Amino acid sequence: LVRVRFAPSPTGPLHIGGVRTALYNYLFARKHGGQMLLRIEDTDQNRFVPGAEEYILEALQWVGIQIDEGMGVGGPDAPYRQSERKDIYSKEAQRLVEEGKAYYAFDTPEELDEMRKRLEAANAPAAQYNAITRMQMKNSLTLKPEEVQARVDAGEPYVIRLKTPRKEEVRFNDLIRGWVNVHSSAIDDKVLLKSDGLPTYHLANVVDDHLMRITHVIRGEEWLPSAPLHVLLYRYLGWEDTMPKFAHLPLLLKPEGNGKLSKRDAEMGGFPVFPLEWRDPFSGVVARGFREDGYLPEAVINFLALLGWNPGTEQELFTMDELIQSFSLDHIHKAGARFDIQKANWFNHQYLRQRPNEELAPVLQKQATEQGLDCSLEKATKIVGLLKERVNFAHEMFGEAGTFFYSPEQYDEAVAATKWNEDAVRAVTVFREALQGYEGQFAADSIKHLLSDALQQAGIKQGKVMQAMRLALTGSGAGPDLMITMEIVGKEEVMNRLNLALQ
Ligand code: GLU
Repeated sequence: LVRVRFAPSPTGPLHIGGVRTALYNYLFARKHGGQMLLRIEDTDQNRFVPGAEEYILEALQWVGIQIDEGMGVGGPDAPYRQSERKDIYSKEAQRLVEEGKAYYAFDTPEELDEMRKRLEAANAPAAQYNAITRMQMKNSLTLKPEEVQARVDAGEPYVIRLKTPRKEEVRFNDLIRGWVNVHSSAIDDKVLLKSDGLPTYHLANVVDDHLMRITHVIRGEEWLPSAPLHVLLYRYLGWEDTMPKFAHLPLLLKPEGNGKLSKRDAEMGGFPVFPLEWRDPFSGVVARGFREDGYLPEAVINFLALLGWNPGTEQELFTMDELIQSFSLDHIHKAGARFDIQKANWFNHQYLRQRPNEELAPVLQKQATEQGLDCSLEKATKIVGLLKERVNFAHEMFGEAGTFFYSPEQYDEAVAATKWNEDAVRAVTVFREALQGYEGQFAADSIKHLLSDALQQAGIKQGKVMQAMRLALTGSGAGPDLMITMEIVGKEEVMNRLNLALQ
């Protein structure tokens, strides 16, 4: 049974890259009839940010990623918040110490600093606690057992470090990147359990993935350098046989392709990189969200799915179900994926036009009402029908809707120069006359008949004057369906505009 997890740390708002990671996990799980877990990795208490956990849940819900087990839904492996699983990790860390695969270290921050300086002075490749340097430090490998016990009994702070082997090959086959080989000398004696008794990310992550029977770890490329350490941990903990498979996703790159996408790019580019708006609880600074900027969740999902993955066909528009059908890890790219907000806007356009008019109408009605305009829901619905194809965002419709609320204040001169001629004036005049005597329903269809009958009787070719008619009614030479436009503004206002044009 495929079991994957999304394991964010509540250190701030979930980045859009995190949503993509969650999405790929979700698609993979659904595709294989598996399960998707949500685990909160909050063992770094210094970085905990209030509200971040709720934000994560809300963001996943908004984009339509359903969690099968874990935070917010519960399940057999509860609790799913790592800070509530302290004992589980310390038990495993102690076991590693007993088995000689980890050790206590008592070094103070000053001592560690001295070590770093010594190594730097000696031009050592990297300042690290390893098989050689550990022998000069204060730990359970260098101190006598009685002294170790005495220090522990006296309540002296200590950490538990991994006793990384000096010369061993660590290798694993990443499902996206292929074989990764690392020599253990490149891995330092990582802290597994901190002096506050909480585990580090590495220990907690491995222990939980094991206990939660995770089969595939699908996560961002920034975790690739940690993966060899994790492989080593699985080995030391005796869980190598059931070790999950790894798949490290490509980075999200800046729009220009030069480096990792950041919050700053978003601020400068005026686009969001967070799914939902986020108000920082400490600074009060607000970061914009896709949701509040008017993106539809189905557009965000489709956009994110194609940032780093391709279906192997030309198809671009995918519903969540279609994504599940088509998704496979083999089609994930190794190279970073350039973040292109124009593409996101295009997707939004595609999905906006599929939304029912009734659903979008309140957005327009609200904006109109705020401007002191009279706009029934019925009128808004009709306007939406004409405008939703022309914009990327629902809130942009109102900006295009002027003609439905105001008589023209000026007329496009270029159009007037070529189209406003004698025939045009006659056409507008006969149409006005026809309207004067008209008592029937003022609907697009009947207006259309009325107009063509009037023009025919006057011997005017409709094709020659329609642009002028539009100019008279709207001030411009192009725009949405003119008959429906007239229906929306109503007979009285149409008459008013015809009069205005003939003045
Ligand atoms: N807590 C890590 C993060 O915030 C999870 C990394 C992983 O999936 O292993 O991204």
